[in-house]
Amino acid sequence: MVEIKTPEQIAKMREAGLVVAAMHEACAQAAVPGATTKDLDEVAAKVLADHGAKPNFLGYGGFPGNICTSVNDVVVHGIPSKDTVLKAGDLLSIDAGAIVDGWHGDAALTVFVGEGHSAELHELSRVTQESMWAGIAAMRKGNRLVDISKAIESYIRRQPRPAGGKYGIIEDYGGHGIGSQMHMDPHLLNYVERRRGRGPKLVPGMCLAIEPMVSLGTPRTHVLSDDWTVKTNDGTWSSHWEHSVALTEQGPLVLTARDGGRAKLAELGVEAAPDPLG
Ligand code: MG
Repeated sequence: MVEIKTPEQIAKMREAGLVVAAMHEACAQAAVPGATTKDLDEVAAKVLADHGAKPNFLGYGGFPGNICTSVNDVVVHGIPSKDTVLKAGDLLSIDAGAIVDGWHGDAALTVFVGEGHSAELHELSRVTQESMWAGIAAMRKGNRLVDISKAIESYIRRQPRPAGGKYGIIEDYGGHGIGSQMHMDPHLLNYVERRRGRGPKLVPGMCLAIEPMVSLGTPRTHVLSDDWTVKTNDGTWSSHWEHSVALTEQGPLVLTARDGGRAKLAELGVEAAPDPLG
């Protein structure tokens, strides 16, 4: 069963989404060489407290942080640590979430720490981010879930290939429904798998976290002995971008983007729904 939200509930999720946007901004600014990922977690905790919002990552299945900080070949679920010191050239994915009045927001971005990144890493992050937007633009009434997966995968496959041969679209993790809980049905693959079928029809009131994870090599990952940290099997670096998106009667609203996704969706020929918070 997919949870269908009322416009009032989507407005609450927009509030949570804007807290997540503020967490991203503060954490990205603090992600400088010499900072630890634990420092970023404290920045995130302060933003949550300042907004009177609750963390949804902290304690989730025992997760010990307010955010996930995934560096270089860590794909997702990196645990903030005082022992992880960021250095120039690192590629850091920050996944953050917030709860406002019981409604969840969840989004991730990839940050370049300092300078000195190769053109290939810039391209990796760009391709991952743009594939997320292609997926968001496919979140339209009349489409099915698979159309989002297809849009993400086909965007990535249309891009010039990296030196390693092929982008690895991570298969073990994907997007998800979001609302009164962080992770809900349906699971959203970032590629098309025929035996999964086409998935549910997209209808107003549906909210999805759309989150491609892409590596410079393999789609395969493994979990470290801390039970959280997910790394690529071949050690190639990866990027993760995510937004929480509501489908409304007026079209998609990107809950975790400051402008509701308006500017980027317009580039893709899609009109974003009006912001319920004005
Ligand atoms: Mg998510």
